[in-house]
Amino acid sequence: MSGPHSPAYLELVEHLQQTALLGSCAHLLGWDEQTYLPPKGGELRANQMALLSGMVHERATAPRMGELLSQLEEETAGAGGETPEAANLREARRSYDRAVCMPKRLVEELSRVTILSQQAWVEARQQKDFSKFLPWLEKVVTLKREEATAVGKDGAPLYDALLDDYEPGMTTDMVHAVFTPLREELVALVQQIAGSERSPDRSLITREYPIEAQRRFGPRAAEAIGFDFSAGRLDEAAHPFCSGIGPGDCRLTTRYDAHFFPQALFGTLHEAGHGLYEQGLQRDAFGTPMGHSVSLGIHESQSRMWENFVGRSRAFWECFFEPACETFPEPLAGVTLDDFYRSVNIVEPSFIRVEADEVTYNLHIMLRFELEQPLISGDLRAADVPAVWNETFKKYIGLTPPDDALGCMQDVHWSGGLIGYFPTYALGNMYAAQFYNAAEAELGNLHEQFAHGEFAPLRDWLRTNIHERGQLYRADRLLKAVTGQSLSHEPLVAHLRQKFGAIYDL
Ligand code: ZN
Repeated sequence: MSGPHSPAYLELVEHLQQTALLGSCAHLLGWDEQTYLPPKGGELRANQMALLSGMVHERATAPRMGELLSQLEEETAGAGGETPEAANLREARRSYDRAVCMPKRLVEELSRVTILSQQAWVEARQQKDFSKFLPWLEKVVTLKREEATAVGKDGAPLYDALLDDYEPGMTTDMVHAVFTPLREELVALVQQIAGSERSPDRSLITREYPIEAQRRFGPRAAEAIGFDFSAGRLDEAAHPFCSGIGPGDCRLTTRYDAHFFPQALFGTLHEAGHGLYEQGLQRDAFGTPMGHSVSLGIHESQSRMWENFVGRSRAFWECFFEPACETFPEPLAGVTLDDFYRSVNIVEPSFIRVEADEVTYNLHIMLRFELEQPLISGDLRAADVPAVWNETFKKYIGLTPPDDALGCMQDVHWSGGLIGYFPTYALGNMYAAQFYNAAEAELGNLHEQFAHGEFAPLRDWLRTNIHERGQLYRADRLLKAVTGQSLSHEPLVAHLRQKFGAIYDL
């Protein structure tokens, strides 16, 4: 499409933008639900969210949308091309087709049940009592199976339909194809590290880091990498997340542990990485695919890049170790930069995914991927999840969780209906390594820049190459356009081997 936009195109855009505005109200309520909502307001909030999601669904499936899409597809037949207009049309069609397959009753029921289920999960996790969560997990799995059946393609695994919601175009088979070689490499690397005589000093990061001081330090780091606090904020929540409400309003959360320094800081850098993506989207395109992130995997590539490739680099600490020593004089007294750098990169099998090191992290993801598929197909009963979790955990990570809070109940995702979501974390790690290499090829030695506190070149590069493009391309096409490569586990493995080879003297 070129020249002035047709009336049908303008009407489509207007409709999408109004729907997105309504959706942003639900996002804001969702953020509030996880941060400040008083416990007794849970049921009211569940009803509010169900009402709003029903309204959004009604607008997203309005017959007029179908008419406009068909008309525009006819008008532009054969035009092809990778223009913003073509991308908006392509992705609006995709969302519409998916939405019309979902009965409104199912949308509202999913919204209501997942809010209540998350509240039950919080309690069950605190009490380490899976039996309290089980009936909710059963309900959620049943509803998600119903969703997958409604929107899935004939003959494809049900899990594909859920995965596709988060990572458009990705299939279960494609995930297997990269996870299998990645797992082999990671297991070998973990073994090599376990056999190394060098071991970073973990006690450096488990000393007491006063929470008040951490509350000052985290935002300072987020601001340094470019997160705009006049268009966002940072609060505390049980499960850290980033919520891009809309232009000018992006909300991050983190959680503090006085005796585990990495949690809040790297959590904040991670969420700020997501936040930079949200803040880098084209403001005027809000509500249309061109103003939206590509996929969760691409989103995660941004957060993991800032958390790990930047935040856990030695260069980052060349710049931040001195401020850290000023902010935390007691725990860091007498500690050297090198010892500190090594201790924030300690590789150790552990129970909690969000606290896992860069090397074992993806094994945590693969475990969840292995469980979710049979859960959705019906081959694994919800009641058997703890046993299968523990067995697989032992196989992948080498440990047996002492209870389900440190095992299958640690993540919020399943209670929130986010099944098919986990693989995007590991995809994000792989995308991150590929993007990082491409950025460095263009920008020169990035570590040198980080050491001088220069994070703007990388941020601006990501903005131009990824953020501002919205959904112009799907993930695989974007990766190709930016890096010249297809998805591969190899750049990530090379990064891990180089970095941890040096730390552990392999
Ligand atoms: Zn993330």
